[in-house]
Amino acid sequence: MSAKEDIIKQVQDKDVEFIRLWFTDLNGILKSFAITNEELENALDRGMGFDGSSITGFQDIEESDMIAMPDPETFAILPWRMQGNVGRMICDVLKPDGQPYEGDPRYVLKRALAKMKEMGFDHFYVGPELEYFYFKSPTNPEPLDTGGYFDLTPLDLASDLRRDTVLALKKLGIRVEYSHHEAAVSQHEIDIRYDDALRMADNMVTYRLTVKEIATKHGVYATFMPKPLNDEYGSGMHTHQSLFNGDKNAFFDSEDPYHLSEVARSYLGGVLKYSKEITSILNPWINSYKRLVPGFEAPVYIAWSRSNRSALIRVPHYQPGREEATRIEIRCPDPSGNPYLQLAVTLMAGLKGIEEKCEVPEPMEFNLYGLNEEQRMERGIETLPSSLQEAIRFSEESELMKETLGPHSFKRWITLKKLECAEFNRQVTDYEIKKYYPLL
Ligand code: GLU
Ligand code: MG
Ligand code: MG
Repeated sequence: MSAKEDIIKQVQDKDVEFIRLWFTDLNGILKSFAITNEELENALDRGMGFDGSSITGFQDIEESDMIAMPDPETFAILPWRMQGNVGRMICDVLKPDGQPYEGDPRYVLKRALAKMKEMGFDHFYVGPELEYFYFKSPTNPEPLDTGGYFDLTPLDLASDLRRDTVLALKKLGIRVEYSHHEAAVSQHEIDIRYDDALRMADNMVTYRLTVKEIATKHGVYATFMPKPLNDEYGSGMHTHQSLFNGDKNAFFDSEDPYHLSEVARSYLGGVLKYSKEITSILNPWINSYKRLVPGFEAPVYIAWSRSNRSALIRVPHYQPGREEATRIEIRCPDPSGNPYLQLAVTLMAGLKGIEEKCEVPEPMEFNLYGLNEEQRMERGIETLPSSLQEAIRFSEESELMKETLGPHSFKRWITLKKLECAEFNRQVTDYEIKKYYPLL
């Protein structure tokens, strides 16, 4: 049975009345419209038209006709719906002539994957660790618990929330490896088992919605905002990555002290070299930079190591016999971004590293937060951009960003983020009122 026939059969057998068609805007915010089961066949054959001018980062009004073309591989039934079964499919966005729309984030990732294939690799495997918070209400970040890292609080609401979320993800075909309480109060993490990047990006947007839907069902609010509380850890999205040829891990070399191949080393070197240029995608909001400060297990300095968690990239210890698990862990991304773009820019930076045979600097196996500026300078350790404004300045000059996003999305990304910085600069914050008003 073809994927299309299979979907039509499932929709009949399970009495599915509505099917939601999903795609993301440039920011990675999920967009959705529903079609009825009568339209399903038509949608699978020809896609469904929509107005692209109202989607952030998409078309101008003059040329706004777009088509959402469902990917039949992504059909699933939404487990949180109570009344009647509702299906979903993730879509590619096409132009009216049926060609891929260059501003579609899913297409940006597909282009990066095509480049990877041209360079002779078969798989880009990704394992993300998305952290998030539960709060009592959507308007005010009041924590539900006072737990910390790996705390076991059997009676608290959050364990039930996590359990229900893991079960819902399973129903959506997303395999979970771990779930636990994270270091901050009311902070949690559910880790999905690694998979091919395109499927993983689809899974990541699905994961975020699932976490939020299950929270709503329990009367609480879940957020992927990178730094919701001043003096607590923020939410990161460590991203484990490796390249494979067939079922052989191209990152593994038994002779190397870190078990990293030349490919892995130059990939790592590329990600470090281009990290400043791609930061605006990996950490896309003003708030993202409140997380990237010393002392909260989030990276600030551009360096790598095996076990030191203040570094930007960590190479997890090799476990004998587990060649397939050799990988790098990129620690700066946060879970609030557009996963398609986040995976695309890291892959492209790594591939550039391979092309350029980038050298890897010495690993830094000590706490980098402990160094002063002079000591960092001596060792040649640079810092990540410390604000969205600074990150955009690096992105704006970046050929790699232009190539990865394509000229269309590149231009819109820079414009969008500059507008955000300008809007923020006009705000008088609570901090300023508290600090300056009584004094000045
Ligand atoms: N929450 C930390 C961050 O902001 C990461 C903590 C960890 O899982 O090691 O990146
Ligand atoms: Mg974590
Ligand atoms: Mg980690």
